[in-house]
Amino acid sequence: MAQYISSPSVTADILKKFGIKLRKNLGQNFLTDTNILKKIIKLSGINKSETILEVGSGIGSLTELILEQAQKVICIELDARLVSVFKEIMKTYNLDNAVLIEKDAMRLDYLLLSRDYSIKKMVSNLPYKIAAPLILKILLEAPGIEKMYLTIQKDIAERLLAKKGDKNYSSYSIKTGFLADFKILFNIQKTCFMPAPHVDSVFIEVSARERNLEGNVYKYQDRSLSLQQVKRFFNFIDACFANRRKKMINSIENSGAVLPVDKMDLMIKMLHVIGKNKDIRAEQLELNDFLEIFIALENDNNLNY
Ligand code: SAM
Repeated sequence: MAQYISSPSVTADILKKFGIKLRKNLGQNFLTDTNILKKIIKLSGINKSETILEVGSGIGSLTELILEQAQKVICIELDARLVSVFKEIMKTYNLDNAVLIEKDAMRLDYLLLSRDYSIKKMVSNLPYKIAAPLILKILLEAPGIEKMYLTIQKDIAERLLAKKGDKNYSSYSIKTGFLADFKILFNIQKTCFMPAPHVDSVFIEVSARERNLEGNVYKYQDRSLSLQQVKRFFNFIDACFANRRKKMINSIENSGAVLPVDKMDLMIKMLHVIGKNKDIRAEQLELNDFLEIFIALENDNNLNY
C-alpha cells in the first residue's frame, strides 16, 4: 500500500520534486501526522453519500483521507502553484472524486456552491489569516451547510466560544454565537504540521442552528430573523461594540450612526425593560439582550434605517 500524501517523507518529496517553497502569508502549514488526520476524519462522521467542502486543499493531505469515506470533495485553493501540483497528485493517487476550484475562498458564492453540489458538511485545515471571517461568511451565506469540522488557531476558537465576562468576548462571538454552536474536540500539537506553526491549533465542531432554506429564515431559540434582518442585527452589534470601553449608547452614537440618534430613547427604554442601566457597556450584555433590543427597534414603525 502506497504511503499517504500526509506522511512527512511523502510531503517533503512532493514539495522538493515540484520546487515549492511554502508561503507563510497563505498559512501553508500542512498536516503531516496521518494518525491525526484519521482522527479528524473519524470525528467528522463522513459517509459515502456525502459531498464535502474543503477550503485550502494544498497538496491534498486531508483530501486523500476525506475521499476514503466521502462520495466527493469540493476543494478550494488559492495558490496556483499548489493547484497545478495537486492536479498531478490527483492522477498519481487516483483522486478522481475531487473537484478542484482555484479561487480565493473569501470571494466565493457559498450559497451557489452548496446548492450546486448539495454540500451539507465542510472539513478543512484552514489558513490562519482568513479562518475567523470565513467561518462567519459561510455560516451566514450558506444555510445548507449544517456542520463544519475545522482545524483552526486556538485563539480563534477562544473568540468563538467566549461568553460575557471573558476577555475574548466581542462582536464576533455574538454574531457567530447567533448562527452556530461551537465545540473544541481536541488540541493539535505544533509538531503535527510542516512547517510547525508559531501558534497552537485545535480541531473544532461547528453546528449551524436550524435554518429554513426556502424562506431564508435564521432561528435562534424562539426568534426567527430573515437574512436582511440578520445583516441589520450584525450592523447593530458592530455599532454597540465600536467603542467597547465606552457606554454602549455613546458607542452607537459615535459609530457612524447605524441607528438614528432619535431612537436612543427607545434604546434606553429597552435597556430598562431588560433590567439594565443606560450606562452599560456592550461587553456586559449577552446575545439575548442584544436580540431583545434589536427586535424592539425593528418593530418600532417609525424606525427607518
Ligand atoms: N489541506 C492541507 C492540509 O491539511 O495539510 C493544507 C492546509 S493549509 C493550513 C491552508 C491552505 O489554504 C494552503 O494550501 C493555502 O495555500 C490555502 N489558502 C490560503 N489562503 C486561501 C484563500 N484565501 N482561499 C483558498 N485557499 C487559501
